[in-house]
Amino acid sequence: MTKQLSGKTALVTGGSRGIGRAIAERLAKDGATVALTYNASKSAADEVIAGILKSGGNAFALHADLVDASRIPDLFDKLDIELTRRNGANALDILVNNAGNAGWGGISDATPDSWDTMIAVHARAPFFMVQSALPRLSEGARIINISSGLATRPLPMVPIYSMAKAAINNLTHALAMELGPRGITVNAVAPGWTRTDMNAAVRENADMVKAIEGDTALGRFGETSDISAVVAFLASDEGRWVTAQVIEASGGYKL
Ligand code: NAP
Repeated sequence: MTKQLSGKTALVTGGSRGIGRAIAERLAKDGATVALTYNASKSAADEVIAGILKSGGNAFALHADLVDASRIPDLFDKLDIELTRRNGANALDILVNNAGNAGWGGISDATPDSWDTMIAVHARAPFFMVQSALPRLSEGARIINISSGLATRPLPMVPIYSMAKAAINNLTHALAMELGPRGITVNAVAPGWTRTDMNAAVRENADMVKAIEGDTALGRFGETSDISAVVAFLASDEGRWVTAQVIEASGGYKL
């Protein structure tokens, strides 16, 4: 049976761990040729690639430190080479802007440098990723930005992160209008609390876990596969009529 993303290509930033890893694995399982990026976790990225190849998928890893947006064109040059070698063309069908750095930063301890670093990865990099992707994106391509429920319900503890995610929601809307004439859909997926390294410290606090689960209609922490399932829908033909949306996948957090 033909898989729903057979013949498609995908680029997932921050695919070495957490939500990005689950997205890369899911898109590969659905038949796409997947390029994932990693920054510090090369061995984790190699492990993800090995797992995908073992299951019969097609994937490769590229290094990218997304703090520095001036290096994004180099990333795409490398992507061109790898995609052309595998598929005979550099067309990109699915771009997932997922990478995110931790070190959330509050109002009292933030510095201009820590502010810049957080905004650089969470908000500036997705913008310039799309800029470089534009000439490569096929008609009917998908751009999927990983936002957060905090974009619309900011947490006072993490104002910089919340601001950056609000920017992503806004960018999603603007790009959907800009790219609609090319048949390209642009959406954001906004996870709620999802079990990854990013919130490992929170999950060590039993009271916080209890409070989060108590505030969640479905009564548990999210799993990375809960998020990749939504991304897979948006990437598939079934998601073709959905654009400019922020889809919260949080199990119903703070309803
Ligand atoms: P994670 O497990 O900490 O993984 C973060 C990923 O981003 C890793 O692959 C990491 O790569 C990459 N990354 C970090 N800094 C980078 C940099 N400077 N340049 C390039 N890549 C970098 O985080 P996650 O929880 O999966 O988060 C993924 C996305 O979901 C983020 O955008 C996050 O804001 C969003 N989100 C998460 C939650 C949650 O509860 N987990 C909730 C809402 C939204 P290396 O390890 O290779 O450096």
